[in-house]
Amino acid sequence: MRIVFIGPPGAGKGTQAERIVQSYRLAHLSTGDMLRAARDARTEVGLKADQYMSSGQLVPDDVIVAIIAARLSEPDCRQGYLLDGFPRTIAQADALDRMLKRQGTRLSIVLELAVPEDELFKRLADRGRADDKPEVIRQRLVAYRNQTAPLLDYYGKAGLLSTIDGLGTVDEIFQRIRAVLDEHSPSPSGRGQG
Ligand code: ADP
Repeated sequence: MRIVFIGPPGAGKGTQAERIVQSYRLAHLSTGDMLRAARDARTEVGLKADQYMSSGQLVPDDVIVAIIAARLSEPDCRQGYLLDGFPRTIAQADALDRMLKRQGTRLSIVLELAVPEDELFKRLADRGRADDKPEVIRQRLVAYRNQTAPLLDYYGKAGLLSTIDGLGTVDEIFQRIRAVLDEHSPSPSGRGQG
């Protein structure tokens, strides 16, 4: 399965992503984790990205698309992958479409983890990561609303979108995700692409 996982900051995407990749044996491609690793290693890309991340803004599309293009060509992605935090803009989604076309593959499903904004703000304020200061949180929510939420329409029109209610316990939410993914996983014997 090739899955795109979309959700606002604080939705609990990271927690659920871990469970999904373990259960379905998928490569986990988290752009947030990749950028933080690059920043901590003080690479050129990492230091550039940090200027955006620390103010709650999105890193420029060309930077992130180059990172993902390289990562998608690694062998572990052949068994399927979960894209966590990418795409986050329409331009990134278009770039992903082109990469998939070149590889002769397509997405299996796009999962949206939906949580109301007032709940997100509460959760993020409790979390205490370096980019979780109130002004930065607000900016990240704005970036989500303006730049990422349009993807829901984009993938909805493509018939790929499934929305998961992100309120409840971690287990409850994971059961909802499993129910949707189990409908979409290719049959064990099948080579037929769906
Ligand atoms: P969140 O908690 O908001 O889901 P992430 O760990 O996914 O955070 O990402 C942290 C930061 O990394 C974002 O606020 C953004 O600056 C940057 N980032 C991650 N993925 C992308 C992307 N696909 N495009 C642009 N910037 C990104």
